[in-house]
Amino acid sequence: MKNNCVFCAIADGEIPCFKVYEDDLVLAYLDINPFTEGHTLVIPKAHYTGLLDTPPDVLKEIIVRVQKVAAHLKSALPCDGFNVLQNNGAAAGQTVPHVHFHIVPRYGEGGGISFKSGEGNMDVLKVLAERIRM
Ligand code: AMP
Ligand code: ZN
Repeated sequence: MKNNCVFCAIADGEIPCFKVYEDDLVLAYLDINPFTEGHTLVIPKAHYTGLLDTPPDVLKEIIVRVQKVAAHLKSALPCDGFNVLQNNGAAAGQTVPHVHFHIVPRYGEGGGISFKSGEGNMDVLKVLAERIRM
């Protein structure tokens, strides 16, 4: 298996997938452990680990495909919205180290994601922004 990577194996056709879209650069297929009906992954066929090592030119091409697939899912499914998620590193829940975008169709109102927000302290935020400003 190339790069010892399950998503490379899917891109190479060594492992089957439930394909939604394919072109020369990307493949989109159903997640086999879906959050919701139509949960789809968009991957580049080339192997990059995550957002930070994917070349910007490639990334631009991928995000345009994410838009295209999301628009298609929105019209093909009775969903009311969708999330686009992209995990980097085990701490962020990334389990497959081949960069991918999740498109998660959402049904009904008020669906969130499971981060818990707290009210921000403006003084703390000000100091933090000064510390990390680019
Ligand atoms: P992440 O947690 O962002 O790394 O997401 C990896 C996703 O890949 C998970 O949601 C898995 O359910 C999904 N996944 C793993 N193996 C396969 C596979 N062979 N076909 C489709 N989806 C897969
Ligand atoms: Zn790979």
